[in-house]
Order: sequence, then structure tokens, then C-alpha cells
Amino acid sequence: MSNWIGIDIGGTKILGSLFDDKGKKIKTEKKSSKTTKGKEKVIDQLKKVLNSLFESAKDVKGIGIGVPGVIEKGKISFTPNMPLNNFNLEQFVKNEYKIETVVENDANASMYGEWKFGSAKGAENAVGYFIGTGIGGGLILNNSLYHGSTNFAAEIGHMNVYPQGPLCGCNLRGCLESLSSKVAIQREIIRRQKMGEKTKIKDSDLVGIIKSSTLKDAYESNDKLVVDVMNETAKYVGINAGSIINLLNPDVIVLGGGVMESLGDKLLPIVIEYARNYSIPHIFEKCEIKLSKLGDDACLFGAYALVKEKVGG
Ligand SMILES: [Zn+2]
Repeated sequence: MSNWIGIDIGGTKILGSLFDDKGKKIKTEKKSSKTTKGKEKVIDQLKKVLNSLFESAKDVKGIGIGVPGVIEKGKISFTPNMPLNNFNLEQFVKNEYKIETVVENDANASMYGEWKFGSAKGAENAVGYFIGTGIGGGLILNNSLYHGSTNFAAEIGHMNVYPQGPLCGCNLRGCLESLSSKVAIQREIIRRQKMGEKTKIKDSDLVGIIKSSTLKDAYESNDKLVVDVMNETAKYVGINAGSIINLLNPDVIVLGGGVMESLGDKLLPIVIEYARNYSIPHIFEKCEIKLSKLGDDACLFGAYALVKEKVGG
């Protein structure tokens, strides 16, 4: 029996799990990613997670890592929110631990996890939306992860859904991420508050980035402002999903990430309604839109599955 490691490097935390050959999680470790402290500190935190997992491991065959950004042959060639630009993380970990390593974009890894073990299992073509601070996307086409010509594919968060919409972090206007991400939700809540609308959301909840659990509590207590804002974000996800359905004719669309984890049961019917309204009925009927099964663990499972496949274990 050999072991495998899956890692999820995020903006606030680094999660790692030790897996057995059958995909069972044996141990999980979590550390702050300390992205504001620079590259060396992030690497240090990653090594702490890895070393702790190795302590409990037997015969580790591979390390899979999901990280936000564009990955080219293991090198992080572009990552907007991490001090890891132009760093060959795959080579670094491989040299450090003398073990086969795979580095993949985090949304791609999450989609792979959902395809192997979660809501998209068995699908030939599937699309993932991972809605948190930003919006990541992942594509499974013809039974494999689709990367595009230069590894930038599946940037669903930067597809336009409203040309006159708000400015996005990528400097374009009206991207899905500028309307339906947590950053967008927070900005809209603040804007409406300033217009005099009442909400239970406190100013202290709006320091940094708002928690998905805070949004859930407000929504479930029928806070009108939050219900309106959240329903509006789901509308844009649905409009985009309609176009995606027409383009790709997928079997499954998976909705994951912190926002969907917290409020998916409320938002899913709205996403489905708008996807139906903005797609060709015959294609829409063939596509199932559902919530992520793996939740926060999608990236870990995907990273594990990717390296296991590479090694051939
Ligand atoms: Zn954008």
C-alpha cells in the first residue's frame, strides 16, 4: 500500500491531505499561506504542511498541487494574488522531496476532482464554476482536462455577461467575476448601504473579504438587501451557463466554491432558471446543473488524482 499527497495552495491557507491508493484521506494538515510575507515564507509554509504529512506517510509515490494561476510545465507563469510568479514549483518540490510532482491550476484541479470522485463523475463533457473571492473555471472535454493552446483556457470568471458592468480585477468591464464573485457581492452590499438600504451585515463583517457564512446567515434570516444581491449574482451565473451550454453541450455543470457551499441550495434554482432561459432547449435538457459534491476538498482530491495518474499508480 502506497501513499499520495494532495495540496491546495490558496490565498489564505495551504491545505494538504495524505491519501491511500483507494482515494481515502488518511490525514489533513492546514497552515496559513502568508502570501503577504513573500515567496520564501509561502514556500516555508508549504514545506511545513508537506513535512507534517510525511511524518505519517508510508512510501509516498507522488505529490499533486493545485495553485491559483497559469501553469506551464510546472512553472507558475502568472498568478495575480500570490508572490509565486515565474516560479517552477513542480521542479522545486520534485528536487526537495525526490518524488514525482504535478502542479495544476487550482480550478482545473478542483474540476478534475469533481470529475473523478464528485458531481461530474462519469461525464464525458463537464464544466465547473468555483465561486469564492474570485471565480475559477474548469473544463473536462472528451474525457480529459482541457487546457487550451497556451494553458489559459476555462477563464469563465472573465467572460463578459454585462458590457456596461463594473470594472473587473482583470481591467475589463462586466466580467462574470465582477458581478458574481465575493468581491463583487461585497462591493454591491456596500454600495446599497451607502444608498440608505438597511442590512444586518455589520461594518466589521466588511473588513477584508466578507465570509460566506455571514452571507448565508443574512440570507437565511431574509435580509432583503443580501437576498437581492445574492439572487442577482446567481442570475449572471445562469446567463453565462446558458451560453456555455450552447457552446459545449456538456453533460454536467458543477457549481462549487465557498459561495455555493454556503448558499448553493438557495442559488441553484435561480442558476438553472436563467441557464434555461438563455440556452437552446434541446441542449439545455441534456445538461444537469448541480452543486459540488466535494466542496472544499475538490482541489485536494483532484491534485491527488492528477499525480496518481501521472505516475500510473
Ligand atoms: Zn475579468
